[in-house]
This record gives sequence, C-alpha cells and structure tokens, in this order.
Amino acid sequence: MGRPSGAAAEELAIQVRDVDLRFGRKSVLTNLNLDVGIGQKVAIVGPSGTGKSTILRLLAGLLLPSAGCISLYGRPQTYLREDQDNPTDVRLVFQSPALLASLSVAENVGFILRHSQQLSPADVRARVSRVLEEVGLKGIEDLMPGQLSGGMQKRVSFARALVEEPRSDNHHPPILLFDEPTAGLDPVACTRIEDMIVKTTEFAGGTAVVVSHVMSTVLRATDYVIMLYGGCAQWEGSVKEFEVTDNPYVRQFRSASLEGPMQPEVG
Ligand code: ADP
Ligand code: MG
Repeated sequence: MGRPSGAAAEELAIQVRDVDLRFGRKSVLTNLNLDVGIGQKVAIVGPSGTGKSTILRLLAGLLLPSAGCISLYGRPQTYLREDQDNPTDVRLVFQSPALLASLSVAENVGFILRHSQQLSPADVRARVSRVLEEVGLKGIEDLMPGQLSGGMQKRVSFARALVEEPRSDNHHPPILLFDEPTAGLDPVACTRIEDMIVKTTEFAGGTAVVVSHVMSTVLRATDYVIMLYGGCAQWEGSVKEFEVTDNPYVRQFRSASLEGPMQPEVG
C-alpha cells in the first residue's frame, strides 16, 4: 500500500502538517509532515533521540505541538487528550510493558475496565480472557508479571491496550501506536511480536504507527516507512522501496554504518 497521496484529511487516520516541537530552547521536530491512511501500518525509523517517541506522544494527545497541526480522522487536535470531551480512540503501547508487579495478569489487563466503566466483574473477566487469547496467552490470567518472560510481558501490554471495546459512538476504528515493540527481544520473540502487531491491528480494525530500530519489524509488521532525522522526514516510501533505495539516510540505517549523513550530536 502506498501513500494516499492527495487524500482529503478526513480520508486519513493521521495528518501531520508543518509541526514543530520544542522543549524549551531545544528543537526536536521541525516542519514535520506525515499522512497515514486508514488501515495503513506505518514504521517510523531513525536514530535514538530524533523524536520518534515524541511523535507518538503528540499523536496520543499527551503533548501539543509548538506550531503546526495534527488531525485525526480530519479532526484537528487542539487540546490535550485529557481535556477533550470525546477523544479519538488512540492506544499507545509504551516501550516498557510497565505491568504492576503486585497485580495478576488479569488484574493488569482489566485495570482500566475495572476503574473506568460500568462492567460487571464477570464481564471484565470475559473481555480480559478474550484479549489474552488474541495475543496468544490463553489461560495465564492468574500468573504474576514476575513469572513471565520479556516477550510475554510485552504481549500482556498489547492485551492491555486492546482491552477496551471501541466505543459505539466512535465512528472510527482505533489508532494503535507501538513504541519500539521488539527492542531487546530474541529473534523468535521478535517474530511473534511482529505477527502480533499485524494481528492486533487487524483485530481492532485499525491503523498502526510502529516506531522501531529493528529491520525485521519494519519488514514484517509494516507497509510504509518514514525515515526520521534532524527533526523531519528525510525519506519515505513503501517497505519494498525501503529495502532497495539509494537514499543515503536509509542506506546508512540498513547497513548500520558509522559512515553517512547521520552523525551523533556534538555538544
Ligand atoms: P527517540 O524516541 O527518537 O529516541 P525522543 O522522542 O524520546 O527520541 O526524544 C527526542 C529528543 O527530545 C531527545 O533529545 C530528548 O532528550 C528530548 N526530550 C524528550 N522528551 C523531553 C521532555 N519532556 N523535555 C525535554 N526534552 C525532551
Ligand atoms: Mg524513543
């Protein structure tokens, strides 16, 4: 799937226009533009510290841009998520699974349902079991996080992001944001997570943005790549093009070379 070129804002899940983001005097994003079509799975790649997690926080409404505009399904995001009446369904899977160690898997996954909705304990339990099954962890409800491998904890954090049913008054499927979902995992666990990203995105009927350094994750879980460096997109194109392009940024990323346009910040 290619970039939905020229699509109207409401035909896009995400539209980022001329976004700047500064923390004090430090400029992190400069003139960032980004279109993500409904149902697309987009990778954002680039070296550490280039602002990838910051983009996800902007999309999740946890931060506001210093300048420019972010629209989700054509709706400009002018307020932080916590200040919106009926926020777009955006689910951020953080880099660290951050499970609560003293709660069981079921209590972790069902946490938000127990605390924010009027569901009976039996309904919560049924929903938790369903999403655990969806991430390939059927029957582990009563285990504690400390009893799980890193890959399993990651999958539990996916289940937690999926546990809320899309709201019936929300016309749009969820936008899923994954921050470095496969960092630090062994190759087999990586493959499992990559398939899980595709499966959970499709399960939710949604759109995904995946931040990753891991080449297999880009290739297996996404269909479009944005190469971020120096505060903006230096290259973008389909995964197929990403594998072969001569673009110096992408070439340096693919070969993990020290030589190339991407150099550590000085100072
Ligand atoms: P990446 O995810 O690509 O590694 P980040 O988005 O986490 O990068 O960070 C981009 C830059 O913004 C880094 O230089 C980081 O130190 C800085 N940064 C991130 N969050 C904050 C913050 N809340 N306050 C100040 N600087 C921040
Ligand atoms: Mg990051």
